[in-house]
Amino acid sequence: MTASDGRIAGAIAVNTRTAEFLVLRAKTVILCMGAAGRLGLPHSGYLFGTYENPTNSGDGYAMAYHAGAALANLECYQINPLIKDYNGPACAYVAGPFGAYTANSEGNRFIESDYWSGQMMQEFYNELQSGKGPVFLKLNHLHADTVGEIEEILHKVERPSRGRFHQARGTDYREKMIEMHISEIGFCSGHSASGVFVDEFARTTVPGLYAAGDMASVPHNYMLGAFTNGAVAGEHAAEVALETSLPDFNGEFVKAERKRVLAPTRREDGIPPNQLEYKTRRLVNDYLQPPKVTARMQIGQARLAEIRDDLETALVARDAHELMRSLEASSILDCADMAAHASLFRTESRWGLYHNRVDYPKKDDDNWFCHTLLRKVDGRLVSEKRPIQPYIVPIENEERTAYDRLRVSNQA
Ligand SMILES: Cc1cc2nc3c(=O)[nH]c(=O)nc-3n(C[C@H](O)[C@H](O)[C@H](O)COP(=O)(O)OP(=O)(O)OC[C@H]3O[C@@H](n4cnc5c(N)ncnc54)[C@H](O)[C@@H]3O)c2cc1C
Repeated sequence: MTASDGRIAGAIAVNTRTAEFLVLRAKTVILCMGAAGRLGLPHSGYLFGTYENPTNSGDGYAMAYHAGAALANLECYQINPLIKDYNGPACAYVAGPFGAYTANSEGNRFIESDYWSGQMMQEFYNELQSGKGPVFLKLNHLHADTVGEIEEILHKVERPSRGRFHQARGTDYREKMIEMHISEIGFCSGHSASGVFVDEFARTTVPGLYAAGDMASVPHNYMLGAFTNGAVAGEHAAEVALETSLPDFNGEFVKAERKRVLAPTRREDGIPPNQLEYKTRRLVNDYLQPPKVTARMQIGQARLAEIRDDLETALVARDAHELMRSLEASSILDCADMAAHASLFRTESRWGLYHNRVDYPKKDDDNWFCHTLLRKVDGRLVSEKRPIQPYIVPIENEERTAYDRLRVSNQA
């Protein structure tokens, strides 16, 4: 919710148990709703079987966009390596120091680093498409005690469901290589670089609005970064609030929002949110997932616009829970629109698989060694370039291109 002078004026919320519509006035607001983890549909087809926490449907990204804030580098998707059919990380980088690695079907390493990046995911994708796929997590050459140590981490610290998954499947790291796969696409600056643009004080481009954690444009921030980023945002927002008066808010806007948000609860019949979400995310996979093709993304935009018509005229929420899901479906659709727009704007390929544009296959530093910012202007998506700030620590040329040189050439 913004004031007449463009400052943030608070937030509009819905009680997910009672469907009560709430207006929360505030001098400053910090958005910290994590990644947009339900953008693509996982191969399993489960709406909530995502790599990222599935409670994060991209609401933060959508709220920042509608408030008029700029979002950075949304074409730089987040894609991760997984254990096939298990919605958690493969963690080859955890097992790596013990001697494990990502291997092709011949048992050979094909990448220098098991830690994921867009280029690593590109090499992974290439291997899957080649005669040497699929790709595996290889531990079966290690001593049983070493595998036991790794299991202590992966099945206890990381996630107990992983041990149960292998038990039910009858797969054991000691006996066979374990098949890996590629996750659905998402936005997550914490794991990639696609976030709400913030400065060093976590301020967005809307006065009084902050963003922190996975959804803020602080690339590869992770958990410790989220803690730090959140602390910086909190301190600054509190200081600003002390010296700021409570902004006005537009009553007519709130009335219109109330009507829009609660509209699905007023309908007797229609499309339930899970169906609308499924369709959106299936189209994200069909049209926006890399390798990105211009004509395909443009068709995707048209199909997503049809879904928006359905969302505005036919979405039905039969209880408070479905109202929450309806709002999530709306954010997912916003994120899909932003993903398509940002991807079409950057006419080159960069960050390996994250922004692999088949019809612009080369990295074009002359024109695109820059960030991109996307924002809502007069109700429409608009993208622009933002120059890279000078490096604080000088970087050798050799180091600048290290990202692209991940393939093990003498074995794979
Ligand atoms: C599988 C996996 C493994 C990881 N491993 C590591 C690791 O080993 N080390 C590391 O440092 N980092 C790791 N990370 C990253 C780390 O978890 C994140 O960087 C960190 O949790 C980000 O914190 P956050 O507060 O921004 O988002 P989150 O922790 O995701 O919190 C966002 C919160 O917002 C809530 N929310 C979302 N939308 C709404 C809404 N509309 N209304 C109200 N609430 C909402 C969500 O329910 C959630 O609780 C991992 C992440 C994943 C997915």
